[in-house]
Amino acid sequence: MCGIIGYIGNRQVSNVLINGLKRLEYRGYDSAGLCILENGNLEILKKAGKVYELEKLINHQQYTSTIGIAHTRWATHGEPNDINAHPHTDCNSKIAIVHNGIIENYFSIKKQLQAKGFTFKSETDTEVLAVLIGAIYEKCQNLEIAVRTALSEVTGTFGLLVLSSYEPDKIIAARRGSPLVLGISKNEFIISSDATAIIQYTSQVVYLSDNEIAIVTNNQFTTKTMNNQETKSIIHKLDLNLEQLEKNGFEHFMLKEIYEQPNTLNDAFRGRLLVDEGTIKLGGLRSVYDKFRNVRRLILTACGTSWHSALVGEYLIEHLAQIPVEVEYASEFRYRNPIIYPDDIVIAISQSGETADTLAAVNEAKNKGATVLGIVNVVGSSIARATDAGIYIHAGPEIGVASTKAFTSQLAVLTMLAIMLGRMRNLSAIEAKKIINELANIPDKLKKILENAEHIKAIAKKYCKSSNFLYLGRGYNFPVALEGALKLKEISYIHAEGYPAAEMKHGPIALIDENMPVVFIATQDEIYEKILSNIEEVRARKGKVIAIATEEDEVIKNYANELIYIPKTLPMLTPILAVVPLQLMAYYISVELGCNVDQPRNLAKSVTVE
Ligand code: GLU
Repeated sequence: MCGIIGYIGNRQVSNVLINGLKRLEYRGYDSAGLCILENGNLEILKKAGKVYELEKLINHQQYTSTIGIAHTRWATHGEPNDINAHPHTDCNSKIAIVHNGIIENYFSIKKQLQAKGFTFKSETDTEVLAVLIGAIYEKCQNLEIAVRTALSEVTGTFGLLVLSSYEPDKIIAARRGSPLVLGISKNEFIISSDATAIIQYTSQVVYLSDNEIAIVTNNQFTTKTMNNQETKSIIHKLDLNLEQLEKNGFEHFMLKEIYEQPNTLNDAFRGRLLVDEGTIKLGGLRSVYDKFRNVRRLILTACGTSWHSALVGEYLIEHLAQIPVEVEYASEFRYRNPIIYPDDIVIAISQSGETADTLAAVNEAKNKGATVLGIVNVVGSSIARATDAGIYIHAGPEIGVASTKAFTSQLAVLTMLAIMLGRMRNLSAIEAKKIINELANIPDKLKKILENAEHIKAIAKKYCKSSNFLYLGRGYNFPVALEGALKLKEISYIHAEGYPAAEMKHGPIALIDENMPVVFIATQDEIYEKILSNIEEVRARKGKVIAIATEEDEVIKNYANELIYIPKTLPMLTPILAVVPLQLMAYYISVELGCNVDQPRNLAKSVTVE
């Protein structure tokens, strides 16, 4: 969460910083601020609200500076107002910092500094770090030493940029737990939370490692450990283009990303479906094939939407490969001292590859000796680098805060993994071929659902004033119900619950009356008759039934107030299709209610704090 950017080079920096913040804004949008070094002095501008509010304060002509740092915030400590906005400075206003993360021991450090006479303006943890660096600088008169010493005293996480008028030729960057990428161009460097703010200038990047610090000047950079040992940096080439970061005519990124799904699924499948051999090739797992042969248990760990895809993964892998699977919230897994055997394989799923809890779960599993793999979208991200091997989902940049295309691509990858594991065990080539052939048809079937968007929009209009929704599904469609409810909550602020349909009678049924829309994922599978009974139970209590059903199902017409058909497919592949109408419905309800679809309140993409 939160985006930080720093620039040193020959361009007019205020422009570079504002443009960079606009790219990073999806990571947090409580406030924005920048600090540039103008004629040897730190100039700071900051404002609560979106980057747009900050931009209004700036007259770019006024500045000539070519060095600066900036921040777009997702508040953890202190409300999102002007004073708590970053950058924060030391007491002499000579050292400015922007920070992504949490300084966990900020309170005790603040007390110690206050006892020595240092004063504070904001409620943030970040300001404590700024003042601490300043206090240490007073004694050592060396910015790098002051930063390194201060960082040795703090606990918690940081992606940090430091700019000072004491040493005006450099930016110091440091990371522990929060991502930082250094873009390298001729006589200019851009340091950012992610590559989206860098690609406009260069595709050459270095990913800073945890506990690494970079000292960046106009024409060179050095990376070191926190203990002052120089480190070797590997330069990577970004596989990203600017067009992927634009809305390309769509009103919102979320809608664009929903419509991208036929293509992103094809990208996930490319080169991996070996139809003739009836198997799957996942090149990223080559080094751990043997571990899969002996594995006795898989643990899938994730947060949010990725956790829902993990649940589908559990059903798929147990079904096709008969390997026991456990699904764990990463935030719980990391702290509850989980039992992990050496022949367990732990798979972390994360769109950004930076999710703080998932990254910590990866480290926990590694410490306990498990083989740890990643299913990640962002190439080069922390989880991708921390794991032993993995599978990229290749969905391209996902900017809308509510995840859509990453979810369906995660499902595609988990299906391929389940087939691959099944083929190592009891799944026959004939059976696998059948699934693979159908998998290859899914992108076209998904297109057909998108052609039905107007119908879904009309349903959204009709029900958008409801204050509660229930989403119900069974089997493979249970996680889809969870995901549908999450989408609605995230972007329209309507309370929604996802439940296994049969569990409804153990509680949620008490909520049902004529004002309650109940979304059933009622596709034709082995338990279709059962879900029809659950629909009856809702109808008997006057609930309004919105059914996602299999094309040409005539029976369901007698049960549903609203009907959305999806093409027929194998039950195990249904989630990839069934979630799409739910994404669209959440989207259109959010638009109808006038909510900010791409930047819903209180949320941010890429959850890099605990
Ligand atoms: N903890 C800091 C704050 O609340 C930084 C949060 C962030 O990562 O945006 O200001």
